[in-house]
Amino acid sequence: MAVHRDEAGPVVNALSIDVEEYYHATVFQEAVNGVTTGLQSRVEASTERVLALLEAAGVKATFFVLGEVGKDHPAIVRRIAQAGHEIACHGYHHTLVSDQSPEEFRAGIRRAKAVLEDVGGQEVIGYRAPSFSIGSSEQWAYGVLAEERFRYDSSIYPILHDRYGDRDAPRFPYEIWRKGGEGLIEFPIGTVRFFGVNLPVGGGGYFRLLPGGLIEMGIKRVNAREQEPVMFYFHPWELDPGQPRPSMAWHRRFRHYVGQERHEAKLAHLLASASFGTARDVLARTVHGPSVSIGTQAASAGSPASITRNGTTS
Ligand SMILES: [Zn+2]
Repeated sequence: MAVHRDEAGPVVNALSIDVEEYYHATVFQEAVNGVTTGLQSRVEASTERVLALLEAAGVKATFFVLGEVGKDHPAIVRRIAQAGHEIACHGYHHTLVSDQSPEEFRAGIRRAKAVLEDVGGQEVIGYRAPSFSIGSSEQWAYGVLAEERFRYDSSIYPILHDRYGDRDAPRFPYEIWRKGGEGLIEFPIGTVRFFGVNLPVGGGGYFRLLPGGLIEMGIKRVNAREQEPVMFYFHPWELDPGQPRPSMAWHRRFRHYVGQERHEAKLAHLLASASFGTARDVLARTVHGPSVSIGTQAASAGSPASITRNGTTS
């Protein structure tokens, strides 16, 4: 089922940040064979840089936080929530969905949701899989997400890629799963279509690698010609050139570190060039019908008493 735009007016894009340590990145994990003991935690400082960047730009965003980060660093999750951003879920550990059984997956997202809701004081309705790892063999994950009271997923990058991506997937928000009264919306990572090919404008290594102006042009083209929102994402560790650099093969080094020094300036320019908001707010204004009800970020932030409860310890 397609999802239709409710109202005319300027298109607001979704800005998202996957909150994890630099060593959670799959390329980094492979380079160190999963041995991350003794590596310094840098997630709080790098996420503070993200918060400062967003505050300067006057932009609210969705933070897909790893459950274990929420458990070990509750203060930074509270800071994100108190700044008016959306807290969403990136799983408990940074384990690929493709490496988990449905039971393990359910236990992980349930545990992460509980931790993040407790610490952040707002309902968590969004999920993003580590390394976009819901492929054709993991379609069962959507039903599990809906059953665990998630309302949207953002784990599909509709491009051709060696590691992830489905170039035939729809490019804009749509209902990906339904059973009776329960539904789940998919909000794919942004692409622009040129000559029949989907090009990535939704962030990741591509944004660090390609000229910022090209990405901005692509996003504006989608907004103007298709009247659709782009989902854009990045990681706090991309703004942290000071992170440890263990030896790794050149192709991994390239993917993980390329363009990190210029990244912050490029992001600031991007945020000034188009409209951005939380995924929750973009979906609330895009999705209509009884299938999936998604309240706005403002409505969510005002509701639970736990905001006040946690607010004392910022
Ligand atoms: Zn991740």
